Amino acid sequence: MDMLQEFRKSEYSKALINQIHKQQTEEKFTIMEVCGGHTAAILKYGIKDLLPESIELISGPGCPVCVTTSDFIDKGIELSHIEEVIVSSYGDVLRVPGSKSNLLKEKNAGRDIRICYSTLDAVEIAKQNPDKTIVFLALGFETTTPMTAIALKRARESRLTNFFILSGHKTMPEPMKIIASDPESRIEAFLLPGHVTTITGTGIYKNLSRDYHKFCSVSGFEPVDILHAILSLLEQRKKQDYSIQNKYSRAVSEEGNLKARELIKEVFEEVDVAWKGFGLIPKSGMGLRREWKQYDILEKYKLSNTVAGENPACICGDILKGKENPTACRLFAKACTPEHPKGACMVSDEGTCASYYRYQSVES
Ligand code: SF4
Ligand code: SF4
Repeated sequence: MDMLQEFRKSEYSKALINQIHKQQTEEKFTIMEVCGGHTAAILKYGIKDLLPESIELISGPGCPVCVTTSDFIDKGIELSHIEEVIVSSYGDVLRVPGSKSNLLKEKNAGRDIRICYSTLDAVEIAKQNPDKTIVFLALGFETTTPMTAIALKRARESRLTNFFILSGHKTMPEPMKIIASDPESRIEAFLLPGHVTTITGTGIYKNLSRDYHKFCSVSGFEPVDILHAILSLLEQRKKQDYSIQNKYSRAVSEEGNLKARELIKEVFEEVDVAWKGFGLIPKSGMGLRREWKQYDILEKYKLSNTVAGENPACICGDILKGKENPTACRLFAKACTPEHPKGACMVSDEGTCASYYRYQSVES
């Protein structure tokens, strides 16, 4: 039997919903679900509608595609215009809008841009094309960074000199600290990202709850997981308890996945990086260590320094900071749909706008 079915059982969900209704007062309680996977699950299972009206769930900056800047995509496009370069990345990345184009349009116009299902596919492309320069556009949080590290180690073992990455890897919880310290923010509690925390462990959030006085609970992705974590946040508020609750203990521990963390540490180091909606956040990105710099495409080619602005009609930035929700965007479900995304939040299945488009009824 599928173990996950246990976490989808309606009787468990009903019992948790009852307890949540008992715990919650009329006083407003605003929770940010940091991860795009949670937003998708919350909307898919109709969880918002089952909660007391005084509990508000707001989406956060936890989808790696959503927080990708136009500037990063523009760099990928610029690379694809270099004769000997093959650009590769995950399928979603090809659809993220740059300032003037996207990688899919460039591919259709004849640039050599390949879709990979794993970083190791990109290493294979490099092996098969020794006369070409292969660049992998590496995106993602701590969940995918170890895979990029493995690809780089594989490239080194295979003595490849034509494999490079453009690193857009990012880390939690720095943007959460920005949200937590924003005096205009209404967020009182965080539903912490399950997959990221599987790698990092709960230890990374200690300062967040202690210094910013936010209630924090790690959640898995099934309805019972999410409801259980919401209930624990209510209990924390009642007791004014700022400890980190782990309601995804079948996958998450305090220290995380030590092997994956070691791998990340061996290849990457903290760098400042730009996030869509937040701008440059110190020490929130992963760049290659000196010993691995030879695989950094920015060491091989000097790309233009112009920093492109974002589409002014797109409010992804405010959505990622929890200040607006997608239906406040005038392009939502009109000019901007998953088939024709005008902003990064409409691209991935975990993107906030894409989830609202799929699961939330659209008011015209
Ligand atoms: S990879 Fe997992 S934790 Fe990260 S945004 Fe996606 S669903 Fe959330
Ligand atoms: S609906 Fe589209 S344009 Fe509007 S915020 Fe979302 S991604 Fe951006």
